[in-house]
Amino acid sequence: MTSFVYTAHPARVIFGSGVINRIPEEVSRLGFSRPFLLCTPQQVSQAEDLKRILKDNVAGIFTQATMHTPVDITKKAVDAAVASKCDIVISIGGGSTIGLGKAISIRTGIYHLTVPTTYAGSEVTPILGETEDGRKTTKSDPRILPGTVVYDVDLTMSLPTSLSATSGVNAIAHAVEALYAQNGNPIIDLLAQEGVKALAESLPVIVKDPKSKDARTKAQYGAWLCGTCLGSVGMSLHHKLCHTLGGTFNLPHAETHTIVLPHALAYNAPKIPKALEKLAEALPESDGDAIKGLNILTSKLGVEKGLKAYGMKEEDISKAADIAVSNPYWNPREVERSAIEELIRRAWAGEDAR
Ligand code: NAD
Repeated sequence: MTSFVYTAHPARVIFGSGVINRIPEEVSRLGFSRPFLLCTPQQVSQAEDLKRILKDNVAGIFTQATMHTPVDITKKAVDAAVASKCDIVISIGGGSTIGLGKAISIRTGIYHLTVPTTYAGSEVTPILGETEDGRKTTKSDPRILPGTVVYDVDLTMSLPTSLSATSGVNAIAHAVEALYAQNGNPIIDLLAQEGVKALAESLPVIVKDPKSKDARTKAQYGAWLCGTCLGSVGMSLHHKLCHTLGGTFNLPHAETHTIVLPHALAYNAPKIPKALEKLAEALPESDGDAIKGLNILTSKLGVEKGLKAYGMKEEDISKAADIAVSNPYWNPREVERSAIEELIRRAWAGEDAR
């Protein structure tokens, strides 16, 4: 075994069906009394349910959380949170709402408890991506990491099947890139393999039977592990491409990850034989071929294969390639402009990865 550095991030995790009911006790345990709730316009009813669980003891609710954490929305939310004199923010939702909680917390120092309802994994990372003037920038700071994570499977039961599938593949993407990260280590490899296995086994069940609580629980467990991978080691080409595409062309996050992942993996494949072996072990029906295993999984999930379906224009491909190769993240294979443009073109058109 080669030498390595492993940094664990502190988090209190409460996991299980119905654990949302423990939030009042958690708030008191932390010594707080004025929670400020965050959600998207689509998840107001879940925030209202939490307000009832808190016996209406809330400082306020902000319901305008938005994809890719636009800074103008954050400013409004910070003003509302500060004016409410809250002492804790509680984000209830997917990566967009958690991003807003992080953005408020890093600006104000207010404690952040989060209740994730997708599989994106942001809740266990010290990373914040924000969008301003059409560009997404990402920063990492230990103070961004939420202090407490409440994983209640019941809140994921309403996640639409298509978003469950793509959000799950978004989580898998974190684990995939962790397996070939420059600062990877054996502990993160274990989490990555276990996370991919849990998601690859549960997502096809969810697509067939969205009400399967067992499958939803397994998916949430896998998402937690994959999110931990994202928070612990550096990401490479795949995440850079998705940030570029999502932030610049306002493409949906989970769907973009799902389309790009096989292409990014195929691009890096010649340089990552060990990672491919580990990934293949975690993917059912792969027969030792990780890309085949991933293709089988996405076919079972019936996901969209081309970015053009989400409104990306053909003339945007070249601009996307320019941005993707500027300030590239470390990557196991050299990032070559023409090959990247071809990768993006194939992902745009919905062609097979190669
Ligand atoms: P999202 O939070 O944008 O949610 C998508 C939609 O689904 C929203 O309308 C939301 O309200 C709805 N939704 C979420 N959970 C639901 C549920 N259980 N039932 C019904 N509707 C539900 O989607 P996402 O993919 O979780 O997050 C994407 C955002 O998170 C992006 O901005 C991305 O950059 C960010 N992200 C950040 C990190 C990080 O570590 N910083 C990690 C992953 C994602």
